[in-house]
Amino acid sequence: MIEKLATQVSLPQLPSDQDASGRTLGDEEIRLLADVIEKGVLTSTKGNYVREFEQKFAQRLGVKHAYCTSHGTAALHVAYAAIDPEPGDEFITTSITDMGALTPILYQGAIPVFCDVDPRTLNVTAETIERAISPRTKAIIVTHLFGQPCDMGPIMELAIARGIPVIEDCAQAFGASYKGRAVGTMGDIACFSLQQGKHITTGEGGVVVTNRDDLGRRSYLYINKAWGYGDPKPDHYFLALNYRMNELTGAVALAQLGKLDMSVDSRVERAHQLTKSLRGLPGIGLPDFGPEYFHTFWKYCLTVDDSIVPGGAVGLAKILKEQYGIFSAPRYIQKPAFRCQIFAERVTFGKSQFPFTLARPEALDYSERLFPGTFKGLNDVLVLPWNENYTRQHVAFIADSIKASLETLKG
Ligand SMILES: *Cc1c(COP(=O)(O)O)cnc(C)c1O
Repeated sequence: MIEKLATQVSLPQLPSDQDASGRTLGDEEIRLLADVIEKGVLTSTKGNYVREFEQKFAQRLGVKHAYCTSHGTAALHVAYAAIDPEPGDEFITTSITDMGALTPILYQGAIPVFCDVDPRTLNVTAETIERAISPRTKAIIVTHLFGQPCDMGPIMELAIARGIPVIEDCAQAFGASYKGRAVGTMGDIACFSLQQGKHITTGEGGVVVTNRDDLGRRSYLYINKAWGYGDPKPDHYFLALNYRMNELTGAVALAQLGKLDMSVDSRVERAHQLTKSLRGLPGIGLPDFGPEYFHTFWKYCLTVDDSIVPGGAVGLAKILKEQYGIFSAPRYIQKPAFRCQIFAERVTFGKSQFPFTLARPEALDYSERLFPGTFKGLNDVLVLPWNENYTRQHVAFIADSIKASLETLKG
């Protein structure tokens, strides 16, 4: 017992994105926040910070429109509402994502149709998407999970051939690109999140971006209760919510945007260090998918082949935590999204089960045999927390700990 405590005390403490240790918050944020308070203009309908952030964010990405929202979930809801599905229309999406990317589909009266993923990346592919397309498909959502871009070439080819709009969920993929094209600029509309644990943060917040004027206009309106600000005869044009970001958040967002490159560069550099250190370990898959992908490492994921590594990802995570104080998440979200109660039992509005009541039965077939990549991917994945304040020493410690843990598992 005493021996164990002694080793724990000497272990390095990794910075965490859940507090200042793993974030880039500092004087710039405080200065801009103080300015908002002193001016007393806290709403973005009157202030300039949210607008300035939107302009700079759009400029950075090279897109025509960027609008801030209260949350990433709100940004996704806005994008779905901009697409304007009829009740019962289908949105193809991934079985492995944040629930905030799924519930707004139901709020718009549409049906999430889950497609399988590549078990190595946990990302959707053109092949898995194609199998889920039906005459009712209204949009395809691609999620660049963990900062790893999806294989967008074949996906866009398929979507364009079928005339289906693509929504990119870039919540985990700030700064990522595919064949030199930034994620968020390849589909029709895209969303980002500024939640506590993302590449840059305002605690809560989101951004929706698009090059399409029609989707930009509908997004702007949806965020603003569909009130036609600035129009000659403004009205509330359609059913919509207030999803605005406030100026306090906008001020922090603006300061954080200036640190995005640093966050991305640091994460990528340290990730390459870890990949190099772990190369060649039997049974371990590394996030190394070829030069066409610029992965920006929201998290660092390994795959652990449990036919080679006894105990698999769960076993490795246990030793990392117990022996080295390193927390990791085997199985990421634990189970595919469709196994959550909301989908498995269709718990929505009262007892109605709306909008599932409008769905084709095949669209609600969540049989395990249809999702081999999802189950394999979740079984094998080990998600290591990652942030921009990891040093070379932290990463060397993680690498050494993983190697030693694998030795222990081999027995
Ligand atoms: C974080 C996240 C969201 C939701 O964003 P919030 O800001 O937490 O509402 C949606 N999709 C993905 C992939 C995410 O990681």
